[in-house]
Amino acid sequence: MSENLKPGVAGQQAPQEDKILLKVSHLKKYFPVRTGIIGQHVQYVRAVDDVSFNVRAGHTVGIVGESGCGKTTMGRTVLRLHSVTSGDVIFNGMDLGKMKPRELRKIRPQIQMIFQDPYSSLSPRLTVGEIIGEAVRQHKIVSKENYKDYIFEIMKKCGLQPQYFERYPHEFSGGQRQRICIARSIALQPKLIICDEPVSALDVSIQAQIINLLKELQTRDGLAYIFISHDLSVVEHISDEVGVMYLGSMMEYGRTEDIFARPLHPYTEALFSAVPVPDPDYKMHRIILKGDIPSPANPPSGCKFHTRCEKCMDICKCEKPQFRELEPGHFVACHLYNDKYGVNQRH
Ligand code: SF4
Repeated sequence: MSENLKPGVAGQQAPQEDKILLKVSHLKKYFPVRTGIIGQHVQYVRAVDDVSFNVRAGHTVGIVGESGCGKTTMGRTVLRLHSVTSGDVIFNGMDLGKMKPRELRKIRPQIQMIFQDPYSSLSPRLTVGEIIGEAVRQHKIVSKENYKDYIFEIMKKCGLQPQYFERYPHEFSGGQRQRICIARSIALQPKLIICDEPVSALDVSIQAQIINLLKELQTRDGLAYIFISHDLSVVEHISDEVGVMYLGSMMEYGRTEDIFARPLHPYTEALFSAVPVPDPDYKMHRIILKGDIPSPANPPSGCKFHTRCEKCMDICKCEKPQFRELEPGHFVACHLYNDKYGVNQRH
């Protein structure tokens, strides 16, 4: 998937693979935090800072990184819950970033979001049937005659009993509520679902059930997911490709098996060194990152990771590393892999 990531990079041709459903190119989302004396914005939080990736139809892109790295803001900006500062978000050939609210409303059913907290994302005043059916009616997904059968069918797909139709969210456990959230999303027949930490509020056994449900629905309906999580084991299990974000920028991106077998970026190495391995004889080599994550309002110059990187060189402090494709489909933003500095670390 060489072309999968850096649209517009000279010399990179798109191999004919699965259809690219979403193309995010150089996406930026800055929030103004300080204004000058005449009201102009003088400082910004760079929550998402030049992020590019593609999502193929029926595939999952996992996005990982520490809290505050911009994963959730990136997901919300793709969905246009936040406006786009710059860059392109092309969904099915349409530029979401430049769409007017009326046009966006028409597209909304095709891109859905599942939130982290199934407790607060469901209205306590609506029954399960109403929650799942509210937007179905609004967007006229099915005719009035078929409405109830359709909702029962969706509930069945998500492992919800038909008798839950008249019940209220407070009567359910966390896992069941997340199933209701998933049912509400898929009822609109989306092509892409942005899953923002969908299992992190759930018990481990329930997490597995929800992940399996998401995979089943993907196989059956050809859904694509952007799966945002800080749980690397879950991301490895569900994702086809993985992007690693730090301070609003993509540090590494590639096929899941490549990234987990041989992480290249020092940040990815540190992040993945904390993943437990189910082998009692395996000796873990945990890399402890020093210092705190810097403020996105005042990110470090050059490589944003240089203040915490054990392999930092002089060049890292002043020059921003390019996001380059080192191996087919494997992209890294790090000077260690730049021949120009004579320190190529590829092995
Ligand atoms: Fe570390 Fe330099 Fe690579 Fe940044 S560019 S990750 S500071 S080696």
